[in-house]
Amino acid sequence: MIGWKFDNSYARLNELMMTKTYPVSVKNPKLVVLNYGLAKELGLDFSNLTEKELADFFTGNQLPEGSEPLAQAYAGHQFGHLSILGDGRAIVLGEHITPTDERFDIQFKGSGRTAYSRGGDGRAALGPMLREYIISEAMYYLNIKTTRSLAVATTGEIVIREKPLKGAVLTRVARSHIRVGTFEYIAIKKDLESLKNLLNYCINRHYPELKIAENKASAFLTAVLDRQIQLITDWMRVGFIHGVMNTDNMAISGETIDYGPCAFMDTYNPETVFSSIDEHGRYAFQNQPGIAQWNLARLAEALVPLLDKDQNKAVDIGEEIIGSFNDKYKKSYMQMMKNKLGIFESRKEDEQLIQDLLNLMFENKFDYTNTFISLMHENNPEIFNNEQFKEWHKRWSARLITTNKPLNSSREIMKQNNPVIIPRNHKVEEALRAANVGDLTVIEKLLSALEQPYLQREDIKMYQTISTDMQYKTFCGT
Ligand code: AMP
Ligand code: MG
Repeated sequence: MIGWKFDNSYARLNELMMTKTYPVSVKNPKLVVLNYGLAKELGLDFSNLTEKELADFFTGNQLPEGSEPLAQAYAGHQFGHLSILGDGRAIVLGEHITPTDERFDIQFKGSGRTAYSRGGDGRAALGPMLREYIISEAMYYLNIKTTRSLAVATTGEIVIREKPLKGAVLTRVARSHIRVGTFEYIAIKKDLESLKNLLNYCINRHYPELKIAENKASAFLTAVLDRQIQLITDWMRVGFIHGVMNTDNMAISGETIDYGPCAFMDTYNPETVFSSIDEHGRYAFQNQPGIAQWNLARLAEALVPLLDKDQNKAVDIGEEIIGSFNDKYKKSYMQMMKNKLGIFESRKEDEQLIQDLLNLMFENKFDYTNTFISLMHENNPEIFNNEQFKEWHKRWSARLITTNKPLNSSREIMKQNNPVIIPRNHKVEEALRAANVGDLTVIEKLLSALEQPYLQREDIKMYQTISTDMQYKTFCGT
């Protein structure tokens, strides 16, 4: 009736990789949001379900036919230190195959304790689950690879954090939940057969074009690196700060995953950190490319036994691939910034032009997103009366006419790359506060505005205002 079609390939892997576990049932479930648009894309129809059935389904009280729930095992470097982790508060129900033959993990987050919960309660609070829902959907509409959110439901139970909070379950949809940390886990176990199986599994599922590669491990490492470069470039384009780029929070598929203390930068400052647990700024805005490379080096280490039979040679191969990150990233970043500025072709002064804009944004505390909106629409007196900016604007205008491309094409490419709406921290908080006391109108309006982030229109000024809270902090909420 709903349209579920499960084919659980991960559940058929070596049992080392998982623990079969059921969600822990909850007392008094209630649906908060359901993403009907996403459901439709997945070929799922929830319209014939009663409120009670929906609530039971989206908290795990009632499982869909064909699911084989399991918690995945993984390890991960957290703030640089290796630990054995695993799904401590998440359960993968299985893989749903859509009508167009695409495969997606359906996962509950906050569905109770598992074999990997360690001291945790396996539960999640409403605020952080709605936050993931809002930001992941915003990322999707910004054209950035990401896991998605199908629903959030409250459990009717209280979870204890700094204070008692409403418990909730998020239903997450992802290409897969395999992480750099999944490879690290198998590498720690020193089980070569399982490592080979995992590599082949990931190639089949995410990089089928590599099935014929001569050296599969090196082709895979290169392909994962290329997708991460694209992803980080996109984050930098919109001012997204993931906040906790541990290796267990980096997906092999190239999707943004595990939204915790993430947030969008407002005032431009490359050292911006919002996460309360990131004391030393390891995951600051400007550090994200370097951290991605560091994480990929951990993937390379895990793959060493498969890169070559000769260990020295294997290390050389790995180092060469990881070493290619910097040049590739710089190229990708430059192209992205040129798109944001509507610049075609390459000139030797381009890098300086870009850097000078960033410097003047930093010195004058300009808002990152709004500065690019101003460049497109010339509607911001604060920026346009600034002498430093006026100088820079002359240079930019002169650069634009060095090619034969009409200015319209510049404007077009700028519009596709510079969002006019992002989920600003104070707007997200406002929506969460309202939702927490049962008012869903604010979050619904915000979600709907975020569906068209590149469309300039009349009624969006309220989403472009800058928060006055300069000390904004985010919490993992675990
Ligand atoms: P995260 O910071 O959400 O990426 O989680 C890091 C690790 O902590 C993962 O292994 C999670 O499964 C685990 N974890 C986070 N929150 C909880 C919780 N409330 N109960 C049990 N495990 C948790
Ligand atoms: Mg995580």
